[in-house]
Amino acid sequence: MTDTLVFDTAVIGGGSAGFGAAYASASSGAKTVLIERMPGLGGMSVFGGVNCWEPGYGGLGIHLALARDLIASGGGCVIHDDRIAVGPGRPYANCLPAPDREYGTTFKVPDPAHVHDTDHFMFEPEAMSGLMRRYLESAGCRIMTLTEMKEPKLNGDRIESVYAEDPGGCHLIKADVFVDCTDDASLSRMCGCRFAVGEDSSSDTGEYSTPDEARENAVNGVSLIFRCSPTVSGHIDGMPDKLRDVDLSDFIRRLDRREIYSVVNHYPCGDVNVNMLPTMDGGEYLGLGKEAGHVMEARVWAYLIWLQKTFGFPYRMKSVFPVHGVRENVRIIGRYRLSETDLRLGMFSQPLAGRLIAFADHMIDVHGTSKLKRRLSPWLDVPYGIPYDCLLTGECENLLTASHSSSLTHIAAASVRLSRTVMALGEAAGYAASMAARSGKLAADIDIEELKKKCKTEECTAQLRGLWNIG
Ligand SMILES: Cc1cc2nc3c(=O)[nH]c(=O)nc-3n(C[C@H](O)[C@H](O)[C@H](O)COP(=O)(O)OP(=O)(O)OC[C@H]3O[C@@H](n4cnc5c(N)ncnc54)[C@H](O)[C@@H]3O)c2cc1C
Repeated sequence: MTDTLVFDTAVIGGGSAGFGAAYASASSGAKTVLIERMPGLGGMSVFGGVNCWEPGYGGLGIHLALARDLIASGGGCVIHDDRIAVGPGRPYANCLPAPDREYGTTFKVPDPAHVHDTDHFMFEPEAMSGLMRRYLESAGCRIMTLTEMKEPKLNGDRIESVYAEDPGGCHLIKADVFVDCTDDASLSRMCGCRFAVGEDSSSDTGEYSTPDEARENAVNGVSLIFRCSPTVSGHIDGMPDKLRDVDLSDFIRRLDRREIYSVVNHYPCGDVNVNMLPTMDGGEYLGLGKEAGHVMEARVWAYLIWLQKTFGFPYRMKSVFPVHGVRENVRIIGRYRLSETDLRLGMFSQPLAGRLIAFADHMIDVHGTSKLKRRLSPWLDVPYGIPYDCLLTGECENLLTASHSSSLTHIAAASVRLSRTVMALGEAAGYAASMAARSGKLAADIDIEELKKKCKTEECTAQLRGLWNIG
C-alpha cells in the first residue's frame, strides 16, 4: 500500500549538498523531508571515503558548526602536509594531525608558492554522518534513509510528487518545491532537464581552455578510497582470493614508473585514509561498466601491497569504502552555466556578480583529462561566486538542482565540487525552496536580495577580501 506524505520542501539525496539544503529549509520553518538511499547521511563525503575537506572557502554556513562539533568530540582534526615533497622517492603526500591549527586555517586557498602552508580538515565518517542527522532532527527535518526516490510525476512544468521506496514499502511524496541533490542529477534528468557530461566544446561554453570538440568520455579519474590501521613495518597484506582473476601487470608497471600517487590523510585515531590519484582513468571506468568496481578493488589491494613492499608502509588494510569515488558525473544545463570565464573573472567582475549565493576559491583541479586546448592553469587570481541561476533548471519551475551536478561546465565543476562548496550550494537551495514554498512564487521568482541576505553574501565578500588580501 502507498501512503501520501505532504511537505513544503523535498530534498532528494543526503550528501553534503542535500544535508545543507535540508538543514536550511527545515531551520527556516518549512516542512522538509530528506530522502537518501544509503543507510546514513553524508554521501560521497562519508560512504565514498572523502572524509576530508580540502583547503578552500566555504562561506559562513553550517560547515562551521559541523567542524567545531567534530573537533570538540574528537571526530575531526585539522591536518597538515608533512612537507616531504611528493616524487619518485615517495609518491604519496602524508597529511598528519596539526592540533595547534584551527579550522579557520583551512579556508585559505593553496597559494602555488606556498602549497605546504595550507591545511585540510579530516573527520571520522560515522561522526560526520551522526552529527548531520542530529542537526537535521533538531531542525525538525524528516529523514528517510535506505529510501530510493523514483518516478516523479509532472503536471506541465511542475513536479507534483515522487515515489520514495524504502524496505517497508512505497510512499507518495508531495511537495511545493523539490531540491535535487543526487550525485547524478537523477531527479532533474527524470523530469527531462538538459544535461552534459565530460568535456564541453568551446562553441558551447566559450571557455578559453576547452577543446573544440566535446568528449563525453573525458571525465575525471575515479578513486576507490581505502582505510588502513597502523601495523609494524614489514607487514605485507595478501590479495583476497576473489580478486586474483584481475590482470594487474600493466597497473604494477605504472606503479613502478611512479605514475600514480596518493594522498594519505591521518584520522585523529591514527588510522589513515588513502586516496589514489586516481585508481582508474575516467574513460576506462565508463568503458568497463559494472566490471570497474572489481578491477578497482584489485588495484587498491595491489597498491597497498606495493606501498608495503616498496616503502615499508606501516599500515594494514582495514576497509575499502563502499561507494566509488566518482569525481565527475552529469551536470545539468540550467538557466546559467558557470564556466571558466566566471572563474577567471572572479567575484567582482563575473557576468552575474549581483546574484551570487555561494563562493569558492579552490584551484581548477582536473584529474586525468589532459586534452584541454591550451594548458589549463589551475590557479585563480581572485575568488569567484556561484549565481543562484546555476541551481535553476529551464524545464521545471519548482525544482532546484544543488550539488556537483548543478549547472557548471566541466572546467568549473573541477573547482566547485568540493564538499564545503556544494554544502553552501545546498544551503542556498534550501533557503530558496522555503522562500518559494512560503510565498507561493516560482523558484526563479523569489526575492534574490532576501536570498543573498540568508546566504550572507555581503559578509562572505568581506571575509574573502581579507583572506585573499584584496584591497
Ligand atoms: C575521489 C574523490 C576525492 C575527493 N576529494 C575531495 C576532498 O579532498 N575535499 C573535498 O572537499 N571534496 C573532495 N571531493 C569532492 C566531494 O567529495 C564531492 O563532490 C561532494 O562530496 C559531493 O557532494 P554531493 O552532495 O554533491 O553528492 P554526494 O555526496 O554524492 O551525494 C548524493 C547523494 O544522493 C543519493 N542519491 C542519489 N540518487 C538517489 C535516489 N534516487 N534516491 C535517494 N538517494 C539518492 C546518493 O546515495 C548520495 O548520498 C572528492 C571527490 C572524489 C570522488
